[in-house]
Parts: sequence; structure tokens; C-alpha cells
Amino acid sequence: MPRNPEAIETVRRRLLRWLDEDEYDFEALRDALDLGVRDLERHLRHVEKTLRGRGSKLRVTAPHCRDCGFGFPGRTAKHLHPPGRCPRCRGERIDPPRFRATAR
Ligand SMILES: [Zn+2]
Repeated sequence: MPRNPEAIETVRRRLLRWLDEDEYDFEALRDALDLGVRDLERHLRHVEKTLRGRGSKLRVTAPHCRDCGFGFPGRTAKHLHPPGRCPRCRGERIDPPRFRATAR
């Protein structure tokens, strides 16, 4: 994780540019930016504020269990990273949350 302010700014600019153009899931962003879970979550919350400030928003699509279809209601208000396992079926095949910048 880069510690200097310019590098942090670059990460957030890249996130904003990518999310303006397409939808990406948490793991794809983490791979592309080479960040840890907590760091990416922090950047995404910041990007969320930036988007709100310019009249748009970060659309967050909740994670989804591929085994039983559980949709993790309410989770993304608290957590943007993917859950480790499904509380309903205990499955671990979970589609991670997805993100996109959209008009309000
Ligand atoms: Zn499940």
C-alpha cells in the first residue's frame, strides 16, 4: 500500500475513472490496484463521498451466494468487502459486491 499522499490520490482517481465507465467487483478492483481488503474498502468509502459531492453516487450491488441465492440484505451499508461464507447455507462460493458510479 503506497503511503504518500500523491499515490493515494492516484488510486482514488483511477477508481473514479474506472467506475465512471463500467461496473467492477471488489476482487477485480483489488487485483488491479494491488491493495489489501481494508485499504480498498477505505478508498471506496472515500470515492463514495466524492461522488456524492459531485451529484452522482456509488451504486453498490450486494454480494450473492451462488449456492443458495442469499443476497446479504443490509450488509453493504456496513461492509463493502466480500463475506467469507454464507450465513444461510455455509457455502463459500459468493459473488463479491460490485460497484459503479451512476447518476443519482
Ligand atoms: Zn448460501
